[in-house]
Amino acid sequence: MTTSTLNISQRRKDFPLIAHSALAYLDNAATTQKPFSVIAAERDYYETYNANVHRGVYDISERATQAYEGVRIKVAQFIGADNPLGVIYTRNTTEAINLVARAWGAKHLAAGDEIVITEMEHHSNIVPWQMIAKETGAIIKYVPFSTATASPHWEELPRLLGSKTKLVAFNHVNNSLGTINPVAEIIAAIKKLSGAKILIDGAQGVPHLHVNVQEWDCDFLAFSAHKMLGPTGIGVLYAKEGILKTMDPFLGGGDMIKEVSMERSTWNDIPWRFEAGTPNIAGVVAFGAALDYLNTIGIQAIHEHEFLLTKLALELLGAMDGVTLYGTKNAEGRCGVVSFNVNGVHPHDTGTLLAREDIAIRVGHHCNMPIMRRYGIMGTARASFYLYNTIAEVERLAAALPKIQRLFAPVKSRNGG
Ligand code: PLP
Repeated sequence: MTTSTLNISQRRKDFPLIAHSALAYLDNAATTQKPFSVIAAERDYYETYNANVHRGVYDISERATQAYEGVRIKVAQFIGADNPLGVIYTRNTTEAINLVARAWGAKHLAAGDEIVITEMEHHSNIVPWQMIAKETGAIIKYVPFSTATASPHWEELPRLLGSKTKLVAFNHVNNSLGTINPVAEIIAAIKKLSGAKILIDGAQGVPHLHVNVQEWDCDFLAFSAHKMLGPTGIGVLYAKEGILKTMDPFLGGGDMIKEVSMERSTWNDIPWRFEAGTPNIAGVVAFGAALDYLNTIGIQAIHEHEFLLTKLALELLGAMDGVTLYGTKNAEGRCGVVSFNVNGVHPHDTGTLLAREDIAIRVGHHCNMPIMRRYGIMGTARASFYLYNTIAEVERLAAALPKIQRLFAPVKSRNGG
């Protein structure tokens, strides 16, 4: 097998929970581990310049503001945005999508307007649209999911899109199956069929693949720091400046206003109009350190490494009798996410037994209930990789599955199955 260009053994030393643990951490689609540099950045903020941002005229407040706003520029560069003012800090992807549904949807959607999403969305990219559709009378249409290709039936776009379509939202990478949607191609097709705004759920894409919002020409992009080595509690909504200017605030309070009188208030400039209250300054600063770390390694090298792990996992698990794999058969067109079931064994049991072998995976519906329904299952066991995972860890996962099969064999025969 070809080896990756990353120096993995060196990289692993950068992560406290990886360097000093026997655990094979294969739950990166849920959240990633944090390198020392990210933890140090957060600590350094609290220890040396902890102060609130904006309007402080003393040294540490100015330092905090500079750091907070400096990361906005770093985030913009990371996703190829030409203007950092299009970067809004949120708590996570979920909040970023809710922000669009509330602040854009409440203003631009009316009864009979259509929102198009796919059946393979994370619940975070379904539920906010259901909520705003209920309020405004807008209608949701779904691009159906194909189990044969593990992707949406994109060929149905001409049937689904038209003059009533106001917004199309879909994920770059699906979190249960790892399917990579050809975003640029789909956006081009959408633009030919309608003038709808386009939102990309980048929660599983931005951490693993090159993303450039200008090349895509999407209107919105949502993603979470914690899935790309950053801390929890910080996420991003990128939006085109012109669109943000048409949107009223999401939350009201401090920092998002220009003027407040007893009768009315006026709004701050963008992006601060959408960042009410004291923000997660420590989280933003640490997120900046995560971006530095990713930039040093390079997103392409990360993707190539994950590709090798995914290919190996698909080969090893695919060769096993009694193990069902979900998603595309090969690693091309797929990120480092491998969903499977040991036939006849509940995924929760699989996960629990793997935990006993010091292997951490996720089990359940992965907030993708509509896809699970298409496969006729309640859930899967899911292994997901990042830059610090090794071939040996994938081999450990594969070696553990026959043990689970053996453990459950007598139960199966007792039950006649
Ligand atoms: N979208 C996708 C594709 C995801 O995988 C996730 C989380 O797993 C989310 C949205 C929600 O992310 P968060 O929980 O960080 O808001």
